[in-house]
Amino acid sequence: MCELRGRQLRVDAAAATHVGRVRSLNEDSYLLAEGLAIVADGMGGHAAGDVASRLAVQAFEQVHGDQDSETLLAAAHSANRRIQEEAAAHPDKAGMGTTLTGVALIQNGGVPHWFVFNVGDSRTYRLADGHLAQLTVDHAEVAELIAAGRISPEQARRHPLRNVITRALGSEPAEPDTWLLPVRGEETFLLCSDGLTGELNDDDLEAILVGASDAQSAAQALVTAAVEAGGRDNVTVIVLRSDDGHREDAETVTFPRSELLRRDT
Ligand code: CA
Repeated sequence: MCELRGRQLRVDAAAATHVGRVRSLNEDSYLLAEGLAIVADGMGGHAAGDVASRLAVQAFEQVHGDQDSETLLAAAHSANRRIQEEAAAHPDKAGMGTTLTGVALIQNGGVPHWFVFNVGDSRTYRLADGHLAQLTVDHAEVAELIAAGRISPEQARRHPLRNVITRALGSEPAEPDTWLLPVRGEETFLLCSDGLTGELNDDDLEAILVGASDAQSAAQALVTAAVEAGGRDNVTVIVLRSDDGHREDAETVTFPRSELLRRDT
């Protein structure tokens, strides 16, 4: 629970991760702390991918509690440098990198906002009014093919280039895309590695999120569904449900009874 300019922001958040059915090592990492959620999907083989994704998470642990758009972007740049230094010092880790997607509660002009950032093909979605929308844009070869109208999102999930990403921490370019959204009413954020979206389409994700009673059961149900659908990759999700208590139409009808009576007379 966070104080929000006289209102309480209720946040229910949970994470779940699974190695999947094919891989022996889980190279995804995540961070879930008050007002900050990060998913990182490491790559590089020879146990380097999990090192890269952990370095990304550690950079964000250091700015938690002092987070704004500048410190969060500095954490991404710091993670990028640390991964490159580690790879340079250990030739067996050459070429390692990681995706990064995150949601952070920050103040912008004294008003609470969600700051969303992304590098690579992990994703952040937002569910509001029962509708799920992908906020982030994948930095991936198949995303460019979809944008060009050459393949469909369904074809992308089985495309031979589906694992080729065009931006990652640990390489160049590594600059995150960012979005700033005012905190508003009831909303749910879903952060995930591509092990989730490689197995389930957006309609599946929406149905599970809408049907779950809380963040923990939503996160667990999403991971279980991805593993049952094939589990060809590591799967990591964070579900963050928030409610700032604000209702668009409630304020017009819930003024005090005494006020009603006074106006009538
Ligand atoms: Ca992956």
